[in-house]
Amino acid sequence: MRQDQEDPYQRRSAQVYAAADRAAGSVASPRAVLYDAVLLDRDGTLIEDVPYNGDPEKVRPVPGARAALDRLRAAGLRLAVVTNQSGLARGYFTGEQMRAVHARVEELLGRFDAWLVCPHDDADGCDCRKPAPGLVYAAARELGTTPPRCVLVGDIGRDVGAAMAAGAAGVLVPTPVTRPEEVAAAGWVATDLPAAVAEILRRQQAVQPSTPPTEPVRTALVVRSDSAGDVLVTGPAIRAVAAGAERVVLLCGPRGRAAANLLPGVDEIIEHPLPWIDPAPGPVDPEAMRSLSTRLGAVGADQAVVFTSFHQSALPLALLLRMAGINRIAAISDDYPGSLLDIRHRVPVGVPEPERALSLAAAAGHRLPDGDEPVLRLRRDAVPPRPADVGDPGYVVLHPGSAASSRACPPEVATRIVGALADAGHRVLVTGGPDERAVTARVAAAGGTDLGGRTDLAGLAAIVADASAVVVGNTGPAHLAAAAGVPVVSLFAPTVPFGQWGPYRVPTVRLGDAAAPCRDTRAASCPVPGHPCLSGVDPGDVVNALRTLAVSGGGGR
Ligand SMILES: [Zn+2]
Repeated sequence: MRQDQEDPYQRRSAQVYAAADRAAGSVASPRAVLYDAVLLDRDGTLIEDVPYNGDPEKVRPVPGARAALDRLRAAGLRLAVVTNQSGLARGYFTGEQMRAVHARVEELLGRFDAWLVCPHDDADGCDCRKPAPGLVYAAARELGTTPPRCVLVGDIGRDVGAAMAAGAAGVLVPTPVTRPEEVAAAGWVATDLPAAVAEILRRQQAVQPSTPPTEPVRTALVVRSDSAGDVLVTGPAIRAVAAGAERVVLLCGPRGRAAANLLPGVDEIIEHPLPWIDPAPGPVDPEAMRSLSTRLGAVGADQAVVFTSFHQSALPLALLLRMAGINRIAAISDDYPGSLLDIRHRVPVGVPEPERALSLAAAAGHRLPDGDEPVLRLRRDAVPPRPADVGDPGYVVLHPGSAASSRACPPEVATRIVGALADAGHRVLVTGGPDERAVTARVAAAGGTDLGGRTDLAGLAAIVADASAVVVGNTGPAHLAAAAGVPVVSLFAPTVPFGQWGPYRVPTVRLGDAAAPCRDTRAASCPVPGHPCLSGVDPGDVVNALRTLAVSGGGGR
């Protein structure tokens, strides 16, 4: 949806802020599904990799390929092949031989809706050789959709990189030649092509309710405690609930309140800390719990949907909600809930948080309305005008900090990144909260503008929305960028899975050591001396990442 189109939430939340499809020139289908199309790498993914093969007789499909592709076709998904064929540039085979190979592939595997081939070599510096995103953009265009509505399946890091750089999903299906660091960096890994297809179809189905709510929902109570980023990624699911309810009341914690104010579809906010969710909780205050239960009872909700992250429990709140007289409660819970939940939903590890939450909303009977893309969005009326003194749009925002220091970019690395970006002709704005002023001042001194302490979350959203890219760790501003459709260079500490917490449905390049020892520790402060996952980031790689994302140093996009 574009800003000038009418929005389904206009009646309650005024206009919706620039959506993530802004960059792509939306031709999105109106159906609120995750994917329209599956893009497939050729060699090593669809067929066995025979280097520089120009001989149709040597085409051998991988096991199960035909049946898997037919499942996608039956589900209405369009299929394209996206393949690097540098053998053309090197003269190892002719275009005619390649077309004969492709004819043989279609004979064995069925028809594809499009074939996109990069004929270049690395030295050509084209924008279509994966990991550049050109083939993904071209395939989406040819199939009449947008990259965020595509998922690409490939066997090496170049495939996943190309998908992400276009804002598409990428599934890695490793083979013996796939490097371990490529497997570590991928957010979504499947054992083989049939398994990748099964998971694509499962995720597609999981956001569609099998049955509508049995009774109409007048007031829905939705819950998302924890911090700003957590609240932002729950936005699509809250919009889905809002589409099926007359009124939505959101319970959030103090650290998520500023983000809650930005969400479309929310009619009323209740702020209260939950000691079983907060990372540094105070003691449980029985009186506070009693008054919270009374307050939630007064909401008069006829349904509650409790959103949590992996490793958080919805059950203590479910008990309070039961005591408040709420009859219908839905939540994700691996733990046995007894009679605390009416809908006990379960989700495999690795699903992006926005989809994980959307699948809970679907289990509770709600889906995004047609025309509302499953992307992060902000209320336009909640985002203030951008301060005039930050200059024209087209700058790069570098946000070095994070509430969890394990996910922050080391200041000395951020400083070198600012220097490298300035040298490459980028205007750099360095952002951070009031308690990060010392860091932002030091980092900005290398050639950027220091905005440390100048913005609250809504003000930061305004600055991010006019950036040509944001360089940021795994923290709230990455999700503000996703909500504005602004490309992200993600300096991602692997303390939590990238596939769950990476920037959602927005062009992204991931940097940092995905296999560092902090991987999957969920640590708030880095457990490894020297913060190795991010201290090794090469500032030159950030400059190259911006080039991959087609962000030029002249200030334009
Ligand atoms: Zn090319």
